This record gives sequence, structure tokens and C-alpha cells, in this order.
Amino acid sequence: MAALEQGSIVAVIGSGAMGAGIAQVAAASGYRVKLFDTRPGAVDKAIADIGKVYATLVEKGRMSGDAAVAAHARLQSVATLKEVDDAALVIEAIVENLDVKRMLFADLENVVGDDCILATNTSSISVTAIAAPLRRPQRLVGMHFFNPVPLMALVEVISGLATDPAVADTVYATASAWGKNPVHAKSTPGFIVNRVARPFYAEGLRLLQEQAASAATLDAVMRDCGGFRMGPFELMDLIGHDVNFSVTQSVFNAYFGDPRFTPSVLQQEMVNAGFFGRKSGRGFYQYG
Ligand code: NAD
Repeated sequence: MAALEQGSIVAVIGSGAMGAGIAQVAAASGYRVKLFDTRPGAVDKAIADIGKVYATLVEKGRMSGDAAVAAHARLQSVATLKEVDDAALVIEAIVENLDVKRMLFADLENVVGDDCILATNTSSISVTAIAAPLRRPQRLVGMHFFNPVPLMALVEVISGLATDPAVADTVYATASAWGKNPVHAKSTPGFIVNRVARPFYAEGLRLLQEQAASAATLDAVMRDCGGFRMGPFELMDLIGHDVNFSVTQSVFNAYFGDPRFTPSVLQQEMVNAGFFGRKSGRGFYQYG
């Protein structure tokens, strides 16, 4: 199955950590990107930040100046959803909430053309459930990138029960064309990585609550001696505690309250406090 053609329009809905990263990669791969966000100023900030990243890549000799200018020019801010009517692919990267995602896709279905593929970057919510209320659920697929998107090669291409295999294959080929290493998976709670990673976070949080060692010590042990690229606390700070907590809740609920996936009260308090990690300036560590 072929990738979507270079130059076709990819709409990215949500221009936070993930949406901005996806837009950066898609534009650098030759696709025209339309970015939309409900938060005032979010898209302009994302496009400006992406420009800075391209400039750094040019300085480091990893991108030519011409390629950076062309890629940046392919990024377009849109103020209304109606403006993504010509997209070949829409990638949703908004808040991790089933009802909000369903509302967005219901709106999108009234805007985009028949051949447009709808993709969700959800970390954990059932792709089957997100697609179910659509008139054409077969066109919706999970396209799950990892954070930070430009650096992480894996993309999980998630098929819900109704997903057309041809749609999943096109998204797989498109992720490959963007330099990623995609893998096909079925829509199970947490998919592959977020399912396997649940105990990594949960046991780290339990150890901290039992005062086994500080977050910094636990991170250092897992990173420097355990061979992990990041320890659980620095990784949760990078992901965002709001996002990570939602994922745990979603997996816990999807397995009917299986105690293995019980969310952490400590992390709930981090979310209550607005200590989301890097993006809010404070998590287990201080930033900025
Ligand atoms: P984020 O909070 O950084 O960004 C979300 C953005 O979506 C915000 O800018 C917000 O204003 C916008 N938004 C919210 N509701 C919207 C709506 N209805 N329409 C348009 N824009 C809306 O979150 P993020 O970390 O980028 O996560 C986004 C999605 O990607 C979530 O589903 C999350 O589970 C998933 N994800 C996150 C990570 C991660 O490590 N953070 C990794 C993989 C997947």
C-alpha cells in the first residue's frame, strides 16, 4: 500500500507537545500541514517553535537552509475546523478524553472529503470506541507517535474493530515515508508500549511513596544502571502528569478495575496541583 503523496495536506488538530512534533515531522517530509487548536495563540507558538527547531537543525548541519525554509512555509495555521476540508489525513492530538475526541471527530466528519483518513494519536483510549459513533468508522485509525515525536522512531498503527485494513496500511506507509518505524497493532487498552510501561511508572511511584529512595535516585538507578534512556519520574515529567494519569485511568477502567493498573494517589495529587511536569515548569523536578 502506498503512502499519501508528498504535498498532500495533513491536518493536525491540537498543537501541544505531540501535535507540534507531528507537524514538524510531516512538514519536513514534504507534506503541507494545517494546524488547529482551540487554545488562543497555541498554533502560532507551535509554528514559531518548529521554526526554531529547524534553525537548530540547519546550524548542526542536519538540514539544509533551503529545506528548512520550505518546510516552515508548508506549515499553516487555521482558525476554524472548516478549513481542513481539503486534508488527505487528519491527525488528532487533543486532550486524552473519549467524549471530547468523539465530539471532534463528529465535527470533522462533516467537514472532510470521503477519502480523508481520520487518525487519532490517543495513548490509550479504544480506537474502536472513538470510531463507533462515526458514519464511516472504517476510516478511523490510531496513529500513535511517541514523545518527543521528531526523535522517537516508533509509531503504533492501531486498528479498531471497524478499521479498514487499507486505511491502516496507508497510514503505516505514510509513517514510513516520514522516516518512522511503524508497527501494526490491534486496539487493546494502552496498545503495546503504554501497556508494558504501566508497571514502570506504577512501581516507581509506589517505591517513592514507600520512601525507598528519592525520585532522583530512582531515576539515576534505572537510567545509569538499568539501561533505560530515562527513569520513571523524568519520563512522566516529560510526558505530562495530566496525560500519564489519564492513560493509567483509561487502562485501569478498560480492564474493569484490575488492581494491577490502579492509578497512583501521589500522581493524582500532582495533577490536582497543576504540577504537570516540564510543560508547567514543575513536576517531580523544577524546570526553567
Ligand atoms: P498537550 O496538553 O501538550 O496538548 C493538547 C493540545 O490540544 C492543547 O494545545 C489544547 O489546547 C488542544 N486541545 C484540547 N482540546 C481541543 C479541541 N477540542 N480541539 C482542538 N484543540 C484542542 O497534550 P499532548 O501531550 O500533546 O497529548 C495530546 C494527545 O496525544 C493525547 O491524546 C495524548 O494521550 C497523546 N499522546 C501524548 C504523549 C505524551 O507523551 N505527551 C505521547 C503519545 C500520545
